[in-house]
Amino acid sequence: MFDVLVIGGGNAALCAALMAREAGASVLLLEAAPRAWRGGNSQHTRNLRCMHDAPQDVLVDAYPEEEYWQDLLRVTGGLTDEALARLVIRASASCRDWMRSHGVHFQPSLSGALHTARTNAFFMGGGKALVNAYYRSAERLGVVIRYESPVDALEIRDGRFVAARVGSERIEARSCVLAAGGFESNREWLRSAWGQNAQGDWPADNFLIRGTRFNQGVLLRVMEQAGADMVGDPSQSHCVAIDARAPLYDGGICTRVDCVSLGIMLNRDAERFYDEGEDFWPKRYAIWGRLVAQQPEQIGYSIIDAKAIGRFMPPVFPGCKADTLPELARMLGLDEARFVATVERYNAACQPGSFDHTVLDNCHTSGLTPPKSHWALPLDTPPFYGYALRPGITFTYLGLKTNANAAVHFQGQPSPNFFVAGEMMAGNVLGKGYVAGIGMAIGTAFGRIAGTCAARAAKEGI
Ligand SMILES: Cc1cc2nc3c(=O)[nH]c(=O)nc-3n(C[C@H](O)[C@H](O)[C@H](O)COP(=O)(O)OP(=O)(O)OC[C@H]3O[C@@H](n4cnc5c(N)ncnc54)[C@H](O)[C@@H]3O)c2cc1C
Repeated sequence: MFDVLVIGGGNAALCAALMAREAGASVLLLEAAPRAWRGGNSQHTRNLRCMHDAPQDVLVDAYPEEEYWQDLLRVTGGLTDEALARLVIRASASCRDWMRSHGVHFQPSLSGALHTARTNAFFMGGGKALVNAYYRSAERLGVVIRYESPVDALEIRDGRFVAARVGSERIEARSCVLAAGGFESNREWLRSAWGQNAQGDWPADNFLIRGTRFNQGVLLRVMEQAGADMVGDPSQSHCVAIDARAPLYDGGICTRVDCVSLGIMLNRDAERFYDEGEDFWPKRYAIWGRLVAQQPEQIGYSIIDAKAIGRFMPPVFPGCKADTLPELARMLGLDEARFVATVERYNAACQPGSFDHTVLDNCHTSGLTPPKSHWALPLDTPPFYGYALRPGITFTYLGLKTNANAAVHFQGQPSPNFFVAGEMMAGNVLGKGYVAGIGMAIGTAFGRIAGTCAARAAKEGI
């Protein structure tokens, strides 16, 4: 029998497996995906949000605990467990040396990448290189890894983990870490979580899934049915507006379109619906998926003019390009007259100011609903560009309630040998909203804690 069973094959699972193994436990890791697709959503990531009090290797200036916490508090609107959130924030200051010891390399933020040189440490080679490094290190240390092993049932007795099942196979272990992601890849569950809107649409039918197809939420359901304490609202998620041409799964980072704050966003009726310049893009990009999901037919259109070019990371796939506004409206399939009227109304409302996309500048609209608070320049310089965008789900927030030891809870009581990490518990910290790079910070902090605690529980025979 293995000491520790880790279920999942992404960042959180790998951090748990490595820590448990380093603590001397024998470890079996079960990954649902085949080897080529291992690594879950983690393989698509680019960076980790890190607290630091002074410049550190790839990070410039400082990003103190309090600022990190305030950023998180603002986006979650207070829907966060402060003790667990601060635990993640503090752990983010010290985890990079450990990550390096397992083969992860960092690089400075790319210029134009969401103004993150101060806050986020980028993985050299991206998340795929990170998970490959962790798998290599895990193999070298003797973690037993099995691919194409989706766990579909769990045996739990009196709040204790007993065994997991992969089809007809029963696998016992002294302790267990659940790190099998959210339910974002399960379209039926998304459909029921989002329900039907007043127009009779099922918004989730138009969602695209940015990451893995393997996070079906099977074990979240199993745990819910077993009476585990849950946290979070199933309709809350990290949800970005992405290129409408993206594939259903695994479109990854290259489907993102980062010019929303430099122009205006319209819905199917060629109407604006939210302040595009409310705050810096890294603090706002994750609200646009939800905003587009609330629009008719769940589609939005980001419109910019030639002045925006060079000020954002160009998307991999070119958008529609036209020399006149009516031509652009036609290309996007929008009502020409309404489109032109909306742009003209916006242009007329733009106040003179000094444009600076690196600060919250004084270019704003006046007398316009909704307003554009910053970076409001008239759309008057051809060529004009437009991108059709759909909600792209990154990960869901419904999860298992946990504590500082990453323990799964049943009726308020922490389990002695059952732990959770990553997306399966991110909802403790993220009730709603998002700040870039905190997904990996949560998975790394809690993956490491879960692995340590699972090894201890196994050793002590708890
Ligand atoms: C396109 C994209 C870009 C992102 N960029 C960033 C970024 O730059 N920074 C950041 O902080 N966050 C980013 N995120 C979010 C980040 O990916 C997640 O927060 C993080 O990877 C979660 O780690 P995890 O280990 O919990 O889940 P995952 O990495 O998704 O791993 C879950 C694993 O569980 C496996 N699994 C699922 N069900 C079962 C089962 N029943 N049995 C066995 N195994 C199972 C899956 O195959 C998968 O390997 C991004 C996400 C996406 C989709």
